[in-house]
Amino acid sequence: RDPNVKKPEWLRQKAPQGERFSQIKESISQLKLNTVCVEAQCPNIGECWNGGDDGIATATIMVLGDTCTRGCRFCAVKTSRNPAPPDPMEPENTAKAIASWGVDYIVITSVDRDDIPDGGSGHFAQTVKAMKKLKPEIMVECLTSDFRGDLKAVETLVHSGLDVFAHNIETVKRLQRLVRDPRAGYEQSLSVLNRAKQSKEGMITKSSIMLGLGESDDEPTPLHLTVKEYVTPEKFDFWKEYGESIGFRYVASGPLVRSSYRAGELFVQTMVR
Ligand code: SF4
Ligand code: SF4
Repeated sequence: RDPNVKKPEWLRQKAPQGERFSQIKESISQLKLNTVCVEAQCPNIGECWNGGDDGIATATIMVLGDTCTRGCRFCAVKTSRNPAPPDPMEPENTAKAIASWGVDYIVITSVDRDDIPDGGSGHFAQTVKAMKKLKPEIMVECLTSDFRGDLKAVETLVHSGLDVFAHNIETVKRLQRLVRDPRAGYEQSLSVLNRAKQSKEGMITKSSIMLGLGESDDEPTPLHLTVKEYVTPEKFDFWKEYGESIGFRYVASGPLVRSSYRAGELFVQTMVR
């Protein structure tokens, strides 16, 4: 963050509380499991875990390890050319753990694994299958990499039984090279989303874009981007209205929104539209 840019009041969140939040927190700590919600100290944890008016609790978990083969400039995840191979038991164990947490909607995401021939798509698909077998009513969203544009890998995942296929474009076309790893790209990401949509009738696809470039980085390193601007809540409202006016089924837009923010509730609202 640019030290001259003061953090605005509307970016502060109250400490999380609530019955559902406490139950899930306890269950997760007993199981000694890691969620992105906790590990990333996500400010939305109270809202997501409690669920809103619909009471649909959402959590996010990361598979395929904690080390990424890419290095995007807004992201603090560890990187390496040769991360440890994926744990073959992870799909089954993850499914068992999630089934016991009491969440209604799970977002499964991962680091990028350019070192694995299918980019980890098969591993993702096995996790979804195991999850749906154990708890068919749970709604599953996969937030994936671009699989280096491997559209077969996209299809494998689309046909795994997931409910939502998500892949983030991250930023506008002009800033792709500055913000994302050079192996990612605007057209490649669009082709991934397009194939997911075309591969299965009724497939719900989802994508996210950051405004302000790096507002989640509290302590940016020289390698990370600085926040250029704190985008106001009014501007976010403007983009929500605009997005929906041009045909997006649902747009979640706000200062603290990240791609998995209240994803379960928003999915249900999307479906009734
Ligand atoms: Fe972070 Fe994803 Fe980029 Fe890897 S690909 S560095 S996990 S944003
Ligand atoms: Fe977890 Fe995502 Fe919600 Fe944050 S926004 S609490 S990471 S589900």
